[in-house]
Amino acid sequence: MSRYTGPKCKLCRREGMKLFLKGQRCETVKCAIAKRAHPPGEHPWSRKKRSEYGVQLREKQKAKRIYGLFERPFRRLFAEAARTKGNTGVTLIQLLERRLDNVLYLCGYAHSRSHARQLIGHGHVRVNGRRTKSPGFRLRPNDVFQVMGEDLRKKLEAVIEGNKHRDVPSWLQAEPAEVKGTMMSVPKRDEAAIDLQEQLIVEFCSK
Ligand code: SF4
Repeated sequence: MSRYTGPKCKLCRREGMKLFLKGQRCETVKCAIAKRAHPPGEHPWSRKKRSEYGVQLREKQKAKRIYGLFERPFRRLFAEAARTKGNTGVTLIQLLERRLDNVLYLCGYAHSRSHARQLIGHGHVRVNGRRTKSPGFRLRPNDVFQVMGEDLRKKLEAVIEGNKHRDVPSWLQAEPAEVKGTMMSVPKRDEAAIDLQEQLIVEFCSK
């Protein structure tokens, strides 16, 4: 399982918005977007206005970075969304939202999606009673997921406490005392609180 190991805040600065890649630090004054909201690079202000292609590209990059995907897996998901009946952009968002790492993060059981990936990769998470080590495992309605191990659950109490202020989306049911949750339904577009213009991604990836 490969993952991005470079500076995360640089990714947010490139996209010009908080992508929440570093857990609780993202909500403090230490956030690089709060301190230096300009793009990285030597002459950040000298860049010309973005072309239509540039705007679409940035939206696709933003989606990849939020969910921590590289190009190939992202393209695979897009191809699947394009094959599926219905609105491709909405289907793509649904496929991304249903990933196990995303769901753990949304329930507040991890600082960030990358922390959730680590928990899954180390074999601490079970879905319907079976261990899964795949962060991209796609949940279906009524699937139950849980972080296993008493010691780990104790350690995660502080994380859960720190994430209490975040609302759990209506399509998920969280049981923080058990570090457990259930996916109640496939998220509708308006239930996925993600700041993405999926139509731009579809236009970019369809070229
Ligand atoms: Fe992005 Fe700010 Fe978090 Fe860094 S601290 S990853 S800039 S949101």
